[in-house]
Amino acid sequence: MSTATTMVRPQETAATPAIEVRNLRRTFRIKGGLLGKDREVVAVDDVSFSVPTGGVLGVVGESGCGKSTLARVILNLLPPTSGEVLVEGRRLSALDRRARARLIQPIFQDPFSSLNPRRRIKDIVAMPLVAQGNIPARQVNDRVAEMLTRVGLSAEQGERFPAQLSGGQRQRVAIARALVLRPRIVICDEPTSALDVSVQAQILNLLAELRRELNLTYLFISHNLAVVEHVASEVAVMYLGRIVERAEADALFRAPRHPYTRALLASVLTPEPGLGVPDVGLGDTLPDPANIPPGCRFHPRCPVAEPRCAVQVPQAVATTDGAAECLLLEGAAQP
Ligand code: SF4
Repeated sequence: MSTATTMVRPQETAATPAIEVRNLRRTFRIKGGLLGKDREVVAVDDVSFSVPTGGVLGVVGESGCGKSTLARVILNLLPPTSGEVLVEGRRLSALDRRARARLIQPIFQDPFSSLNPRRRIKDIVAMPLVAQGNIPARQVNDRVAEMLTRVGLSAEQGERFPAQLSGGQRQRVAIARALVLRPRIVICDEPTSALDVSVQAQILNLLAELRRELNLTYLFISHNLAVVEHVASEVAVMYLGRIVERAEADALFRAPRHPYTRALLASVLTPEPGLGVPDVGLGDTLPDPANIPPGCRFHPRCPVAEPRCAVQVPQAVATTDGAAECLLLEGAAQP
């Protein structure tokens, strides 16, 4: 693979992950707790992972589990309370906004609300290039034209406004805008949830094609397990702000180790696009990030909980293809 001409960037080695998240934590203070006291909500709780170049880490969990907050903290749209994010060995917090934009870009769920309705498509796609401030207009036009072609839009569609395109076409615009700077990492936050089922597969195929062509690395956040199974090489399962299981996608779908992962996989996914809450078959006790249970945070809903689960905090146990946080796995022989 490697040749004498292969470039190694500063701070980057063959083993450097495309993205590395270290002990990321994000808390919020909310008013109106008991006796009017402020309460702390832990939305992202000591999350660490890395993704190799070209990999796709799927992040799954119920609504409110912290996956979208995680995306926003990684993108620096919300500053972390603690922890750090590195892209190809570079600390994102040490870079300015333009440099960050060249490394990492988001694609969000609702393309309609994220596209300025008063701008033409070609100008929307050009915005990240223009914001860099040093790219000649001719080069901007060429790169916009190239990106529109790559995502399957015509030059004529580039002259239109968002309201004149379909939902799927608008998501193609959002993808073109995210990729026009040739970032290394793309954070896809429910990128197909707002689309008709018939269009979802086209967008997923386009994202897969672009990843291969442009050697991109994705963090793919979704409540839809079928989508994640289709796109991810590795999966992280979030529950109340923590990654409770992480494994190679094949292994996770074939043999989930954590009781919550098992419940998710056994769940009936909602047919309502955008509703985002799978019926996990665990009753109505929705997780409350302002009131994280002691011991194992999943114990009030866990179908196989033992008395010790209410007091003992499970540690991550290495499994064949990843890790899981469950007391039942501690000390047990791993297959
Ligand atoms: Fe269930 Fe106990 Fe394992 Fe938590 S530690 S997932 S409550 S069995």
